Amino acid sequence: MLVDTFGRTATDLRVSLTDRCNLRCSYCMPPEGLEWLPKPEVLTDDEVVRLVRVAVERLGVTEVRYTGGEPLLRRGLVDIVRRTAELRPRPQISITTNGIGLDRLAVPLAEAGLDRVNVSLDTLDRAVFRRLAHRDRLDDVLKGLAAAADAGLAPVKVNAVLMRGVNDHEAVPLLRYCLERGYRLRFIEQMPLDAQHGWTREGMVTADEILARLGEEFTLTPEDPAARGSAPAETFLVDGGPAAVGVIASVTRPFCGACDRVRLTADGQVRNCLFATEESDLRTALRGGASDEELAERWRAAVRTKRAGHGIDDPSFLQPARPMSAIGG
Ligand code: SAM
Ligand code: SF4
Repeated sequence: MLVDTFGRTATDLRVSLTDRCNLRCSYCMPPEGLEWLPKPEVLTDDEVVRLVRVAVERLGVTEVRYTGGEPLLRRGLVDIVRRTAELRPRPQISITTNGIGLDRLAVPLAEAGLDRVNVSLDTLDRAVFRRLAHRDRLDDVLKGLAAAADAGLAPVKVNAVLMRGVNDHEAVPLLRYCLERGYRLRFIEQMPLDAQHGWTREGMVTADEILARLGEEFTLTPEDPAARGSAPAETFLVDGGPAAVGVIASVTRPFCGACDRVRLTADGQVRNCLFATEESDLRTALRGGASDEELAERWRAAVRTKRAGHGIDDPSFLQPARPMSAIGG
């Protein structure tokens, strides 16, 4: 098992399949993009599947989420999902995606064994989308969302990040849109993970603000916190339920004490936290001929040193050198 010194066990593995993306969300990347990882440094499909197999068979991982960058840009994605679904014990498999291309891929992914999707949608306004993501792709995202629901990848979850003065007036319209279609919406507080280091506490729209705004239009009833477990979202029934909305208050109400996540970057580095400043290199060991057990032992050692919390509020907080798109959000 992947246990740290605070007694937490990591069972939820986030795997970044690429650091590349076809959007440029300003809370994530600069408009000109980033210097992408050179191809030889990126794990091959076989290497990804091998490491995921080690995690599932030897380390107690029960959930695998493919992310990025934009995971739908990874050519081998459907095959990687299919091979992940063949592992035993069979893990839960999901992806986090911006939705572009999902209209084409939702059915093949569902057939390959994908269980769930999280689609990022921050605005319903085309002009705001262009301003926020620097690309005119809102229609593609909405098509992708609908295709995911049609393909039975339910419940489709939607992630939204609000930015002050950009899309913070859209909390209510986004929730209405999701309620009408049966999507589960979760708002995520903006974290200091953008490549440009442009995050400021004042610029961040807090969970309290989001809930206040939603509370003007809807009756929100907190769901039983005991049912939350290690899930990062605090959830609220909307107008008595059964529909609900979530808020992931990573900054103002951190949930590090219940964290069960561990991350693998596209170039084969284990990160025990989104905000970790150190990584453990599995790729070199893998390519150097390490056995499954040797890889597992390196992985255990990497998780053991996980810190108690991300420490964003600590004066000594240092933003990680890698941006979210390279870590795998
Ligand atoms: N490209 C895919 C997408 O956008 O869903 C997957 C990768 S993206 C890094 C994963 C999630 O992280 C998205 O929901 C995105 O909104 C969120 N995200 C990116 N940068 C963030 C930041 N600085 N603070 C909070 N969430 C962020
Ligand atoms: Fe791309 Fe996702 Fe980052 Fe937006 S949040 S730029 S879609 S990786």
